[in-house]
Amino acid sequence: MNTTSGFFRLAAASACLFVLQAHAQFDPAKVRLQPPPVEARFPPPAVIYDTPAFDAPQVGFTSYEQMMARLQALQTRPNVRLETVGTSEQGRALPLVLLAHGARFDAAKPTLMLVAQQHGNEPAPGEAVLVLLERWSAPERAQLLRQVNVVALPRANPDGAALFKRANAHDVDLNRDHLLLRTPEARALATTAARFRPQVVLDMHEFTAGDRWVTRYGAWSKHDVLLQAATTGNLDSGVYQAGMDDFLPAIRQAVAAAGLSESWYHTTTADPKAPVAMGGVQPDTWRNIGGLRNAVSILHETRGVGIGKQNLARRVHAHVVAAEALVQRVAARGPSLVDLARRADRDVSARACQGDIVVAAQQTPERRELSLVDAQTGVDRAELVDWRSSLTLKVAQTRPRPCGYWLAPTELRAVQTLRALGVQVKPLASQHTVAVERYVFENIEASQRQDGRGAIQDAGGIVKAKVSLQATRQRLPAGGWYVSLAQPLSGLVTAALEPDSQSSYVAARLIAVPQPGESDRLVRVMQRL
Ligand SMILES: [Zn+2]
Repeated sequence: MNTTSGFFRLAAASACLFVLQAHAQFDPAKVRLQPPPVEARFPPPAVIYDTPAFDAPQVGFTSYEQMMARLQALQTRPNVRLETVGTSEQGRALPLVLLAHGARFDAAKPTLMLVAQQHGNEPAPGEAVLVLLERWSAPERAQLLRQVNVVALPRANPDGAALFKRANAHDVDLNRDHLLLRTPEARALATTAARFRPQVVLDMHEFTAGDRWVTRYGAWSKHDVLLQAATTGNLDSGVYQAGMDDFLPAIRQAVAAAGLSESWYHTTTADPKAPVAMGGVQPDTWRNIGGLRNAVSILHETRGVGIGKQNLARRVHAHVVAAEALVQRVAARGPSLVDLARRADRDVSARACQGDIVVAAQQTPERRELSLVDAQTGVDRAELVDWRSSLTLKVAQTRPRPCGYWLAPTELRAVQTLRALGVQVKPLASQHTVAVERYVFENIEASQRQDGRGAIQDAGGIVKAKVSLQATRQRLPAGGWYVSLAQPLSGLVTAALEPDSQSSYVAARLIAVPQPGESDRLVRVMQRL
């Protein structure tokens, strides 16, 4: 093939891609306009934003190519490094921007990680990250980058953004994939988190402004900002408290000072009987997995899904204000924040073989007054709702914490996935005879993962296992793998390997349930190896 025909084939392929995507991009005709009394509640901020989405003639939001051009322009600044950390399903490079003094990451300083646009139809966070990267890398902010490292993924799901849909190109919700890592996008995020070990993580989203709220209550959502820290079992209490007592209040104060309103994150469905639920308590979202990485992990959402470009400047502003408050708090805490996370790593590691782990937990049902904006009048309206709180975990099942887990030589996929999360997995060259607990699978049924709102529609669903434990001494053959809990990421290990945790590798069929008479694939190791 000569160069000219190669070029034309490439051009033809690009044109085809363009035609395909032209049907699926952001479509202003599908936007639900807010009634004027509702929209009047959300006036624009005094700040002017200038990302491509704000160019009057541009119909859509900042395109992938426009974003990359902006990031490449930033690279000429001395404190900026632009990298590629993976490739999306459709072949788009996943950009990562490091902001640090001299563009060199320094582990002695605290690190803030920003993740935007895991969901492709939530554009404001992506616009805001461009604003923040430009602002923080400007010469007048050089002092900030002497105090902190910033790691940013401005568009975690670029295919979803190009198609203007929530999930990735293969219809997987990236934000339920952070333990299983079935998508290249989630794998890239995991690798990045394992590499930089950020002490604070901000997961930036948007929530539904009208839609189901209008259907059920004849009202629109009221708050500019919804917030929630990690809420799942087995979190380090020191890190959790730092989020609740320091970082969340810092964001709340800044948001209020900017004239914006905030509340706990909550969502619901169009089903009139569905509760209004806070963000889930399962170890599968970026927020909860971040907590199990011993980071202060915060979900920050703005009121933006379904309303196109309405209130866009205000939505971007809310993300900018929140991230600005957070980075200043990270800088103020300085090396003490690094110490806090290191202490959590040590404490978590030291718990191997001791105490109990949470295997299953649920949200706590409450009644709560929800504040909405009336669709007709635009005034506040209170609705008493069935609320599912994630602030108090209803622990459904606990189990003694083993020293570690043994995986059979066949379980390479599980081993690779754990390693991609940053978990240390040791190959065992020789056989070991040790005290173990075997899983006895008493009941197996097909099911779906649940979150606060109801079932998560995973293709293929999950295996819901009921297990009991059988204590014994067992000869573990050579060639298997040992995953010790004496490591900082042990919370990810127990979430992945206890079979009856709904996000586990057995539930997801990454590890097969042994047939009667088959040997064990996974056992709990009850003594130190
Ligand atoms: Zn989202």
